[in-house]
Amino acid sequence: MSSFDELGLIPPLLQAVGDLGYKIPTPVQQQAIPLVLGGRDLMAGAQTGTGKTAAFALPILQRLAPQSSTSTSPARHPVRALVLTPTRELAVQVAESFRDYAKHVPIRSTVVYGGVDMNAQIAELRRGVEVLVATPGRLLDHVQNKTVMFNQVSVLVLDEADRMLDMGFLPDIKRIISLLPAERQNLLFSATFPDEIRTLAKTILKNPAEVQIAARNATAELVTHVLHPVAREKKRDLLAYIIQTRGLKQVLVFTGTTIGANRLAHQLRRDHIQADAIHGDKTQAEREAALADFKAGKIAVLVATDVASRGLDIESLPQVINFDVPHSPEDYVHRIGRTGRAGLTGEAISLVAPEDMETLGAIERLIKKRIERVLVPGFQPSGATVAALMGDEPKRKSSPPVRRDRPPKQPADPIFSSPYEPGQAGATAAQPAPKQETQQKRKQPQVAALLGGLKRA
Ligand code: AMP
Repeated sequence: MSSFDELGLIPPLLQAVGDLGYKIPTPVQQQAIPLVLGGRDLMAGAQTGTGKTAAFALPILQRLAPQSSTSTSPARHPVRALVLTPTRELAVQVAESFRDYAKHVPIRSTVVYGGVDMNAQIAELRRGVEVLVATPGRLLDHVQNKTVMFNQVSVLVLDEADRMLDMGFLPDIKRIISLLPAERQNLLFSATFPDEIRTLAKTILKNPAEVQIAARNATAELVTHVLHPVAREKKRDLLAYIIQTRGLKQVLVFTGTTIGANRLAHQLRRDHIQADAIHGDKTQAEREAALADFKAGKIAVLVATDVASRGLDIESLPQVINFDVPHSPEDYVHRIGRTGRAGLTGEAISLVAPEDMETLGAIERLIKKRIERVLVPGFQPSGATVAALMGDEPKRKSSPPVRRDRPPKQPADPIFSSPYEPGQAGATAAQPAPKQETQQKRKQPQVAALLGGLKRA
């Protein structure tokens, strides 16, 4: 396995990654860094959690280093690299990473995102920054306000491009790109590659190099997929039953709507389960407070919508539960990307009502896997619909594995604070996936895991 110095990085960057405790480049870093250093356009299939930020940030900083300046004059610090992200949370994380990696080079960076007052951002931009991380809508506000100039931009990064598309940012992205100098390097990172992303890539990227890091969870043997057929009106009871009988201490539950998320969290609390909701209608401060409580083990269940969970540093959970089946199969992949990280096993549990059948089919086609159906007595839908949901496979009837998960020794935090480590992280990594029949005897995945970043505790 190569080390960072073999990637051709300059000493101040090597020092910065050393300061952060990184020892070995992750696969996406090993592949992308030399390509980006060489000036190539890049199309990379890699999700958050794979170390992709450093995969673009380090070579960008290196390419900008010769033009860097210690002068205080704003004119000496034009925007040279523009990174677009779908959410403010991801924008903040990416900007923090740039700051960490640029610790020993005089390159300034900042972040702009919506939902907060523009004045502080304007002041930062006026000071001059080489690296600007932004969500598309707010960036266009600054364009309109004439607080940002793009004439010196030489690198564009589209981070989590698929999510930006899902969130309807395509027109904004096109508009921003039309304002950039034509001569520039373009890097596109995306977890999934639906047709719209390929079309976008064709219009933006010039002769791109391609890097594909195995979609960790779509193919990861380490994630067990299970679905429980259930009548819609019994979903909430089944969820509470699973959480209580298994004593789950830290579980992310996805709902399709903000109202649904609020209501579910409220109902779970009534069942004496510590729960909170995180969704787009909450303020940034409220979302951060809920996330902090979840990370600290103060709440056992975080109910989230897809939009709110995007870009959040919630990684390596033992279980995620799809209370509502996602409408887009790509969202299923994103959701389960929160579990089964870095060599640890994880479990993706979906509560599937008869009306979710069609969506379920699309998900199974995307992940190229038939999800095991497990009936929970007392919660299954009526005869005709259950037959359709179970399909042709032999039926297995069981209660969800009744096992008390041991409470984490230190509640939760290592999940979010330890740096990435390569796949040999645990003995489990080398073992084949447990056979489904033996799943109930399978050892409970450890709560602690690896990704999350030293500085993000
Ligand atoms: P990212 O996918 O860029 O969000 O990175 C996921 C986490 O892994 C971040 O918290 C990084 O700080 C951390 N990380 C990135 N690269 C490495 C590495 N080579 N060694 C250890 N940790 C890393």
